[in-house]
Amino acid sequence: MIKIGDILRGGYEGKEVSIRGWVYRCRSSGKITFTVVRDSSGIIQCISKEGEIPDDLYEQIKGLTIESSLELTGTVSKDTRGVTGYEIKVKGGKIYQRNESFPISRDKSEEFLLDIRHLWLRSREFTAVLKIRATAFNAFSEFFNREGFYNVQGPMMVSAQTEGGSTLFEVPFFDQKAYLTQSSQFYLEALIFSLEKVYTIAPSFRAEKSRTRRHLTEYWHAEGEVAWIGNEEMMQIEERMIEYIVSAVLRDNAEDLALIGRNVEPLKKVKAPFPRMKYRELIEKAQSWGLNMKYMDDLGADEERAITVHFDKPVFVTHYPQELKAFYHRPDPESPDEILCHDLLAPEGCGEIIGGGERIWELEILEERMRSMNIDPKAYSWYLDLRRYGSVPHSGFGLGLDRLIWWVCGLDSIRDAIPFPRTIRRITP
Ligand code: ATP
Ligand code: MG
Repeated sequence: MIKIGDILRGGYEGKEVSIRGWVYRCRSSGKITFTVVRDSSGIIQCISKEGEIPDDLYEQIKGLTIESSLELTGTVSKDTRGVTGYEIKVKGGKIYQRNESFPISRDKSEEFLLDIRHLWLRSREFTAVLKIRATAFNAFSEFFNREGFYNVQGPMMVSAQTEGGSTLFEVPFFDQKAYLTQSSQFYLEALIFSLEKVYTIAPSFRAEKSRTRRHLTEYWHAEGEVAWIGNEEMMQIEERMIEYIVSAVLRDNAEDLALIGRNVEPLKKVKAPFPRMKYRELIEKAQSWGLNMKYMDDLGADEERAITVHFDKPVFVTHYPQELKAFYHRPDPESPDEILCHDLLAPEGCGEIIGGGERIWELEILEERMRSMNIDPKAYSWYLDLRRYGSVPHSGFGLGLDRLIWWVCGLDSIRDAIPFPRTIRRITP
């Protein structure tokens, strides 16, 4: 048994091979049937001729429907007329299942395609996106493993929020209330006291009530936390990490990027260092570009889109006013109204893919900050303990992997970056 992709790479002309897969297209003309077969690695045209293979097999092949599963044996030849430059002259084979007519065709609505996502996933475009996604997940871990980070795991069911109550999912937990985690950050912070440099890839859950092109309610969150470093050093690690992931995709998924029609020129420019800009400067720039924004406005998707079309690399926005971000960000000692944080905005109109920064590590400052934001320190007593026993300066980040794939693949919606999207209106399939 051989993969179709191997045949397409050449060297099998004149040889007999067996392939296994699914019918991608099928048509008969006179005594010849052309079956385009798909497997995980590619598609190839297979030609069966009546009289040259057993009659009952020919009848079966002729009657196949799209997505029927089969195995074929035959001789490879180069043929520029075949869809992918090669074809197989069939000698024998076996049909695993001839199915009813496949429910997906070109003219289906977006909602319908989401309803049958479990079948739509088989499309060549989706297969390409999923291969790129696999590369990105692996490259993320590979980068941090090489940098001496430890791969760790936090809990998914938690008792307190990290990012704000409006997007919390509540779950019954025996006789208590629990929440699905919005971020593993606090747990990674606890783990730096033994491991110093840690990362995790885990789902985060956010009850995002608005429908946008870049929010899911369950997404894959790649987070890192590092002892002894500040905001700038954290950004330096992140820019190398993003360059590493994008280069891995360009190297390993050239065919997949071409298949989904992604222009790779902008991706080739993703090389560290990335520009940095303080929030204050960004607002001034935005005003000079004619955007209606003022100091203290949060950046929503529309603002980020309008801003990032002006950059051809990802850009770090730092020093947000503290009111715009969560309580744990460390104020800049030189300008205490601003915090030592960063968002990384992806270019081409995509916007935020990373949020990160330096954490407050002194107990008094953290308690003071919580009081001023009306947060009950009791709910965070274990988190405050981390500032009681051997506290150290530290920084971290969270990267939305689905967001990253959405940008790298140039997709319309983040829903197309994940096999089974969860959004405000969708929990199946
Ligand atoms: P946004 O402003 O886009 O909602 P956020 O500020 O809420 O993002 P963070 O809390 O900083 O995001 O989370 C870190 C990263 O997780 C984000 O930069 C983004 O890549 C990703 N992320 C956050 N919320 C979602 C979501 N609902 N769906 C997919 N990815 C998300
Ligand atoms: Mg959000």
